Amino acid sequence: MPSPDQPGREAPQRCDLAIVGGGIVGLAVARELSKCHPRASVCVLERESELATHQTGHSSGVVHAGIYYEPGSLKARLCVQGAREMFDYCAERDIAHERSGKLILASDASELPALDELERRGRANGVPSLRRVDAAEASRIEPHARALAALHSPSTGVADYPAVARALARDVREAGGAVVRGCPVENVEVATRSLRLAHALGTTEATHAVFCAGAWADRLAVLAGADPDPRIVPFRGAYLRLRPERRHLVGSMIYPVPDPSLPFLGIHLTRNTDGEVLIGPTALIALARDAYRLGRVRRRDALDTLTWPGTWRLVGRFWATGVSELHRAAVRSALVRAAARLLPELEPDDVEPAFAGIRAQALGRDGRLIDDFVFSRTERALHVRNAPSPAATASLAIARHVAEEARRVFGLEA
Ligand SMILES: Cc1cc2nc3c(=O)[nH]c(=O)nc-3n(C[C@H](O)[C@H](O)[C@H](O)COP(=O)(O)OP(=O)(O)OC[C@H]3O[C@@H](n4cnc5c(N)ncnc54)[C@H](O)[C@@H]3O)c2cc1C
Repeated sequence: MPSPDQPGREAPQRCDLAIVGGGIVGLAVARELSKCHPRASVCVLERESELATHQTGHSSGVVHAGIYYEPGSLKARLCVQGAREMFDYCAERDIAHERSGKLILASDASELPALDELERRGRANGVPSLRRVDAAEASRIEPHARALAALHSPSTGVADYPAVARALARDVREAGGAVVRGCPVENVEVATRSLRLAHALGTTEATHAVFCAGAWADRLAVLAGADPDPRIVPFRGAYLRLRPERRHLVGSMIYPVPDPSLPFLGIHLTRNTDGEVLIGPTALIALARDAYRLGRVRRRDALDTLTWPGTWRLVGRFWATGVSELHRAAVRSALVRAAARLLPELEPDDVEPAFAGIRAQALGRDGRLIDDFVFSRTERALHVRNAPSPAATASLAIARHVAEEARRVFGLEA
């Protein structure tokens, strides 16, 4: 019997709730909506032939504890709740995960004020068991790392997010929903009592829809009638991995104190659920929303980025950072040098190339990289417009947040 979510399967012609995007956020939203509204027909439309093809399948795999985020922000609240739920979900479904712990290292005195600020934020956000440690204690936790001082977060961990996405899809199907792959939504028409989603397999008429399209979120929102601000600008993040014989250099996770003016966490070392140690990611503006290969350019993506006024405002402010990111992306030893600030024994021969992911980062017209999660609405639709890291960690909590919005805005009965 064909699997109910095989690519090319017919997409339903009608449903009550359509979710566009089969990454971890879309699938978590579909599962939550199926749970809250068991009588509603739910259908996920995913453009690729596999689930979790984009960000969900190309991340560091970290379950963040909630340290970095501005207290009171959606990221702070949904990450702390979501991390707890993610570990519980992985345990229930027998998905690989581990609360392996993380050290954030200040390498010199100039980074201590920013470390203090992270500690303040982590405590305000209710991160469990967070503690400040001195150099001696840091080297007991990670014997090969070098720090002046550090924050230790034992509740940070790792999880196999693609496996989580597949399990969420199973939940949706078991609740009677459809998960259709190979189904790119190409147009959205607002009708009197429905939305018509035109896609490669025909048209699905949905009473309501939630768009969770990651790097393509802005395009679908605009098709549904939303403002083009913010635009998604893709940031390519390339990783190296430690050669197996050098993996002992890293026990769990070693992170730097990040640059507070950027929404990225800096070059880090992460031991994932397979025992591999990843080093990265870089952060380079890409000219394709699927620039997994360095140098891939797609005309439409490039034009969208280059004609957006925010891009030039951003470049004007961060051109020096851009130059050093370009250097790290192009020259492997530069990336190794950045990681060797945290791990002095690291040598260029210790690493090999791994993979790259593309961050879907919302950029305002004013040149502001939008840090927090952003949700918005149009007629009969909700949109997840900015769900960068830690949205994989927070996905189950994001799903509850979106489902509450859906109940309110769409007037759904529980
Ligand atoms: C390099 C990197 C490292 C990261 N590290 C971490 C981490 O350690 N921890 C963490 O919590 N988060 C991390 N993140 C962030 C995390 O991966 C994302 O926040 C999360 O995966 C977002 O999930 P999503 O479902 O919104 O997006 P995606 O996984 O990108 O899914 C969006 C889906 O929408 C589909 N889609 C798009 N357009 C259409 C269309 N027209 N029709 C139908 N389907 C469509 C796409 O094919 C895709 O499958 C990282 C991200 C990157 C790139």
